[in-house]
Amino acid sequence: MNISRFPRLHFAHLPTPLEPLENLSKLLGGPKLFIKRDDCTGLATGGNKTRKLEFLMGEAQQKKADTIISQGATQSNHVRQTAAISSKLGLRCEILLEHRTGSEDPDYLENGNVLLDKLFGANIRSVPAGTDMDAAMQEVADEINQNGGKAYIIPGGGSSPTGALGYVNCAMELVGQANDRSLRIDHLITATGSAGTQSGLVVGLEGTRSGIPVLGICVNADKAAQEEKVFALAEKTADYLNVPGSVKRESVVANGDYVGLGYGLPTDGMIEAVQLLAEQEGILLDPVYSGKGMAGLIDLIRKGEFRKDENVVFLHTGGSAGLFAYRKTFTA
Ligand SMILES: *Cc1c(COP(=O)(O)O)cnc(C)c1O
Repeated sequence: MNISRFPRLHFAHLPTPLEPLENLSKLLGGPKLFIKRDDCTGLATGGNKTRKLEFLMGEAQQKKADTIISQGATQSNHVRQTAAISSKLGLRCEILLEHRTGSEDPDYLENGNVLLDKLFGANIRSVPAGTDMDAAMQEVADEINQNGGKAYIIPGGGSSPTGALGYVNCAMELVGQANDRSLRIDHLITATGSAGTQSGLVVGLEGTRSGIPVLGICVNADKAAQEEKVFALAEKTADYLNVPGSVKRESVVANGDYVGLGYGLPTDGMIEAVQLLAEQEGILLDPVYSGKGMAGLIDLIRKGEFRKDENVVFLHTGGSAGLFAYRKTFTA
């Protein structure tokens, strides 16, 4: 797979570390747990959107855009990182925030990622839950283009074939790290939402014939809907990479058992996972994605889904800035 022919800017801190979780592995009694630190990508407290944005911003620059438009939930990590790199590149950043959780907690509305979005100088418009976000972004783009600007729209979560290239690249990076230290990776686990991360990983892990299976822990959809979404984007990404048909449907596996009441709504498992990783490993997860992803991994370990001698890698997708929006969840 040749990703070097796509436009790309280089601002992520790569490769991200692959570290053992010795205390957590011991506490849970195996399997051997590792963490791929994509919370350490460097951009504005880091996270998985940085890798996607290297390719998306490369394309925006190639198209001579002067304004970036994107969208997300109120506490979107994608929006925070998009706002940060836009300011670095001297581009205007227009953001639509969908009030998806309905929370009226001032920490949720103003702290965490929202505080940072504003520090990065993004122009923020809040819209009600259920808004057609793609149509709303197109309206903003039309307005900018009519006024002589050049808009570049980044879909929610940066999840397009262009954005997913960042995670094709992550898969190749991880396979290289495993080879360098003779580590046999038996499972890779990640939170999955807008699907670009899992789609890119599947394309990269299949394309390298790594034999490493990926499991996505859902943060909003059920298993069937999420698998469909990931597979559709994986197929498009494979086409874009000129390796059409390389992803098998059965390689796309999601688990929808850890969503709880909905996107961004805390669960007991998430709270436990965030606390355990902080207390045992000094690592900050987040309340919306990596916390629920890790809650899924911990529960599956307790249910005996993995053998004690297996090596399991959790992809830490970042998001710790969101903790400050959920103060009451962790201090109650
Ligand atoms: C966006 C995000 C995810 C989900 O990644 P997708 O590519 O949208 O599936 C996971 N974790 C964090 C912290 C995120 O911000």
